[in-house]
Amino acid sequence: MQKRVTALPLPFLANDWCDSPQYTQVVKPEKIILYYCFTPLSDPEAIRLWQRTLCEQHDLLGRILISRHGINGTLGGSIASLKRYIKGTREFPGFRVIDFKWSEGSARDFPRLRVRVRDEIVSFGAPDRLIVDERGVVGGGTHLTPSALHELVAQHGDDVIFFDARNSFEAMIGKFKNAVVPDVRTTHDFARELDRGQFDHLRNKTVVTYCTGGVRCEVLSSLMVQRGFTEVYQLDGGIVRYGQEFGDQGLWEGSLYLFDARMHQEFSDAHEVIGRCERCQSPTSQFHNCANLACRKLILLCDECVLDNVSMNCRPSHADLPQSTEGAIRN
Ligand SMILES: [Zn+2]
Ligand SMILES: [Zn+2]
Repeated sequence: MQKRVTALPLPFLANDWCDSPQYTQVVKPEKIILYYCFTPLSDPEAIRLWQRTLCEQHDLLGRILISRHGINGTLGGSIASLKRYIKGTREFPGFRVIDFKWSEGSARDFPRLRVRVRDEIVSFGAPDRLIVDERGVVGGGTHLTPSALHELVAQHGDDVIFFDARNSFEAMIGKFKNAVVPDVRTTHDFARELDRGQFDHLRNKTVVTYCTGGVRCEVLSSLMVQRGFTEVYQLDGGIVRYGQEFGDQGLWEGSLYLFDARMHQEFSDAHEVIGRCERCQSPTSQFHNCANLACRKLILLCDECVLDNVSMNCRPSHADLPQSTEGAIRN
């Protein structure tokens, strides 16, 4: 006679051991994906509802922005869940060719799941100047793979201008060597500074824009082309992909700033530390919130100074620094 197997009672399956971080790490390795896609979306709200359900089904946390121009997301979760999410997302014809970039991290790097509809998937304050069709942004800079970037530099040497498409504070801990780092506090400032002619002296140069994962360059490079820049390239896959291919053996120096609990990422043990503690000038890549509750700006502090409460006093110079960026999404 066959032995009957009864299902385990739920309380047994849901014991504390299953929920411990050690168990999760051993049994369900986690990662973070970042991605974007510029494609016309006639019903962003429908996409939002579908995407939220898909993320909830697979226990993913992170942030997704959706607009009539496309989607921009950063999500953490188990590798198996993320793969199922990617498969599901690619079922939508407009998203079939999305380039998902994998990165170290987990769902725990995000406080919650946010899926929002906005005017822009990356906030330049210029939604009406962006033209998007089924192939992506119309009239943007030419995409360069990391190797193609090296070829361009081999051909043109110092005539290649690296143009940082991020907020200037991000470059305080890492950037391409000799890059132009525009004095912008938010991505909004780029459109205004371009309009004011602040970068016009670079219009006839070979310009390569770069950002974390590439999405900001899509918009910025198209605004540059509109402004009359003659030779604009953008680094495909951004610093994330460049770091995966060349680590610290190429043209990148320092750490990559990240808009989640990880705060920053390095590409090898041989990375340089280019950030400096605002108190003692020691090398550091770690931003902290100013201890003054009325300020809470992001400031660079070394491990020793952060332990010293006195040194966390606010400074007038914090007025020009960015607010804490939890919840922001820029890639
Ligand atoms: Zn210090
Ligand atoms: Zn302060």
